[in-house]
Amino acid sequence: MSFQNPVFIPGPTNIPESLRKACDMPTIDHRSPLFGQILHPAREGVRKVLKSESAEIFIFPSTGTGGWETALTNTLSAGDKILAARNGMFSHRWIDMCQRHDLDVQVVETPWGKGLPADRYEEILTADTNHEIKAVLATHNETATGVKSDIAAVRRALDAAGHPALLFVDGVSSIASMDFRMDEWGVDVAVTGSQKGFMLTAGLAIVGFSAKAMAATETAKLPRTFFDVHDMAKGYAANAYPYTPAVGLLNGLNEACSMLLNEGLDNVFARHTRIAEGVRAAVGAWGLELCAANPSVYSDTVSAIKTPEGFNATDIVTHAAEKYGVAFGVGLGEVAGKVFRIGHLGSLTDVMALSGIATAEMCMVDLGLDIKLGSGVAAAQDFYRGHTATAQKDAA
Ligand SMILES: *Cc1c(COP(=O)(O)O)cnc(C)c1O
Repeated sequence: MSFQNPVFIPGPTNIPESLRKACDMPTIDHRSPLFGQILHPAREGVRKVLKSESAEIFIFPSTGTGGWETALTNTLSAGDKILAARNGMFSHRWIDMCQRHDLDVQVVETPWGKGLPADRYEEILTADTNHEIKAVLATHNETATGVKSDIAAVRRALDAAGHPALLFVDGVSSIASMDFRMDEWGVDVAVTGSQKGFMLTAGLAIVGFSAKAMAATETAKLPRTFFDVHDMAKGYAANAYPYTPAVGLLNGLNEACSMLLNEGLDNVFARHTRIAEGVRAAVGAWGLELCAANPSVYSDTVSAIKTPEGFNATDIVTHAAEKYGVAFGVGLGEVAGKVFRIGHLGSLTDVMALSGIATAEMCMVDLGLDIKLGSGVAAAQDFYRGHTATAQKDAA
């Protein structure tokens, strides 16, 4: 594997030089005002990226999975009813975590390739007249299938049912790359990590809690220690953590937020849409299909590409690594061997994307698929030539 080639896995993503430098810093006292000068701007930056005026931002030394656990354990009690849909490996894992915490999950089985069924959520919530469902889970972007879901529609489902359940959103592979509106969508807990849209190494769980989620922490009985947001809040008030923070990564996060906000969130989202459209143009030119069922659910951060029946899609990933030193994502769970994934989020340009498309193409030809060298690259080139690099409101 080459250290020079970009990666095309849907996280961890490529790390810009400036962020690597920001993470590389001498030891400082992590219980000092100097640490506060890193911590508080980083939290403020995250709040802006989440598009929230008032969310409480907590950042744990952990990963996105720890963010899931933070959401559950701080707001719920054993036996609480949860509503969730399973449409891929990541929604599956969050459901599994709920069950291991003795939460009673009503699972809406949803075909892999489809988005969250907001209308089904509405029916279930409307029927729950005693308001026994305490929280609704929504995976904004299913990284396993390259499917985005409509979180605004999930909020509308809750509102239409007049249901007070909390709304928890897994935004690990969407936040900082695709439009995310914590306040507007009435998200109670937003979950992400450092190694996807924020372009850092893995190591931070990043969560935003609404006022309603904070209120739920007062009565929630699930055990929590490491992920206790009250302990964390107490620490923050003294420019500290309840334990030792990942100072370098927090400094990197602060810098990452500045980068994103300087580029402008709308420009960041438009860049992701444009790069994704080029990848999708290539997939079409190859005569292949996405796992995502239709354009309304196409993800702008990852494409899961179906390979022909009888072909093991994982061979592409293995071959790309061995022969060209380039990383793509394998299919997970139900779609293992049926799809390979091109991650296209974080620090990425058209030119980098073209190198990934060209490599995938070489691999597929090497492995005997009926694909013409250059066909996908040409389709993406055509698309990129015709679309400028600045934000276009209608690019989405
Ligand atoms: C990557 C990812 C996770 C898991 O995050 P980790 O940082 O690996 O713990 C959860 N959900 C989604 C949608 C993801 O893409």
